[in-house]
Amino acid sequence: MDAANGTFRTPKEALFFALNFGKQAHHPLSALSRLMRDQPLGKGVGLVGLDGAAQAGFIMAHLARLDQQNHYGACALVARCTHPRRACDCGQPCCSKSRPSEVWCEAVAELDAFACQQLGTGLSNRRLRRSIVEKHFGLDVSVEKIAHDCGIHRATASRHAGAIRKGLRELEARAWEAWDISIAEAGMLLEAA
Ligand SMILES: [Zn+2]
Repeated sequence: MDAANGTFRTPKEALFFALNFGKQAHHPLSALSRLMRDQPLGKGVGLVGLDGAAQAGFIMAHLARLDQQNHYGACALVARCTHPRRACDCGQPCCSKSRPSEVWCEAVAELDAFACQQLGTGLSNRRLRRSIVEKHFGLDVSVEKIAHDCGIHRATASRHAGAIRKGLRELEARAWEAWDISIAEAGMLLEAA
């Protein structure tokens, strides 16, 4: 009998859980990678019996390993599974009850170099690249507004957006493939694949 010993229905659900568990959502990926880099990662050890914090740590160790193998891919998964903003309880009168998520912002910032590669040689506008990556990972902004804010022609912005999105889609697909294998092998899923 192939008994399942995990607790997640999908690898994506596992990553979403870990990235949004407790205060982990406030830790920059780089700091987590340093913490987790040397952790041994067993195969098929399962998660049953571990509490949420231990499960999250276990999953983050796998993310750190993916980060070493495919840094931009790991950043894409982090940006996909976190929200651009997180709740804020600072209590200031001016507080809007939310603030930018450090984890999401860091992942998106890292992907700027990847976006630059997608545009090939020649100059590209850093702010344009950043805005297109932000839009791709959930920020609600139109290409028209991005073009206007960057002082760039709409058609140019659209062309750059198309190239960057294509690259990001392929990057993310490859990263999910690696992630799915990693999480399944580690025995974190409810049902054997
Ligand atoms: Zn606040």
